Amino acid sequence: RSLEERTVDVAVIGAGQAGLATAYFLRRTNLSFVILDNQSEPGGAWRHGWKSLRLFSPANWSSLPGWPMPASSSGTYPSRDEVLDYFSRYEARYQFPVMRPVTVHAVTRKDGYLHTATTEGVWRSRAVVSATGNWSNPYIPAYPGMDNFEGTQQHSAHYIDAEPYRGKNVAIVGGGNSGAQILAEVSRVAKTLWITPSPPVFLPDDVDGRVLFERATERWLAQKEGRSVDLPVGGFGDIVMVPPVREARERGVLVAKRPFAKFSSTGIEWEDGRTQQLDAVIWCTGFRPALSHLAPLEIIAPDGRALVTESHSIKEPGLWLVGYGDWTGPASATLAGVMRAARSAAAEIAQQLATDIAKEA
Ligand code: FAD
Repeated sequence: RSLEERTVDVAVIGAGQAGLATAYFLRRTNLSFVILDNQSEPGGAWRHGWKSLRLFSPANWSSLPGWPMPASSSGTYPSRDEVLDYFSRYEARYQFPVMRPVTVHAVTRKDGYLHTATTEGVWRSRAVVSATGNWSNPYIPAYPGMDNFEGTQQHSAHYIDAEPYRGKNVAIVGGGNSGAQILAEVSRVAKTLWITPSPPVFLPDDVDGRVLFERATERWLAQKEGRSVDLPVGGFGDIVMVPPVREARERGVLVAKRPFAKFSSTGIEWEDGRTQQLDAVIWCTGFRPALSHLAPLEIIAPDGRALVTESHSIKEPGLWLVGYGDWTGPASATLAGVMRAARSAAAEIAQQLATDIAKEA
């Protein structure tokens, strides 16, 4: 393949749900676009989900725009493999121009265009949609003495199944859905200790993704209309009581302790000096947005995010960021929730590019 410079109206970086949903709406405009993705196959971050991962909402609440996710054949909540299959078929159905594996190193502004530099050459475009998600930027907090710990350490981003932990003493750090689901699985084969900075928030058993999406939509509408809403707290970070987590509660393992004082070479030491032997730590401590390719544009704030209005960069007029979290649109880091942000980003791009072209004519 040639490494020469190519020109399109829009370069979309990332073919996870955010990139694909944006592509769905771009396809309905007359703009040319390409999707650049560094994975070898379809699926975005879902390719790296652990084997037993299940969505927290039924298929019809987990759909990309245009074509609903088929119902799960293995229970109410679709499995990781069902999500991967859906993504492959979705890409094929709309014949999206996905180039992979292509890694984007840097986006820069030059001569009135954005230049997206990749392992396969440069794409020149008037607009760039960054949809690179969070998975490739896992976050591990600093704990005193952690470098001395001689056991294994793994982030949930790389967790596959509980087998390597069989018969071991394992600490699971983090109180979100990843922490609860990995704890539920590992505790079946290992002795576990669950560490969370504050008490975990468990949603009622009958609350799943459906209710969370309804609440997110209600909050979004209220915000648009300048109303206040009185809804129970409950966000996407709170623990959904999917069947394996309920089962773990029945076994009495969903008991979290507050953080310890420091690591030792063989385990941890609590505030009161007691020690505990550990073979392994699994960090379920979340992710930060994967934005290093945008560094040359100098738009990244000290908190690792970019300043945006909805998903449009405030500092770089040709850049949209779609899907990273609530800061780029309510519920935009979810399958069903990203549609709103993707639709408005595509509409804004179409409008801005039409205005630019009219000015030049
Ligand atoms: P990604 O899926 O990460 O896609 C980004 C793509 O861009 C990837 O293919 C990546 O490899 C690629 N990329 C990154 N950097 C570059 C680069 N420099 N150059 C080229 N390509 C690049 N949401 C739900 O709706 N329901 C759920 O049940 C649910 N469960 C979840 C469970 C877990 C454990 C996790 C972690 C998340 C869950 N989510 C769920 C949240 C959310 O749906 C995912 O985080 C989702 O994958 C985010 O999609 P995305 O398109 O923004 O990013």
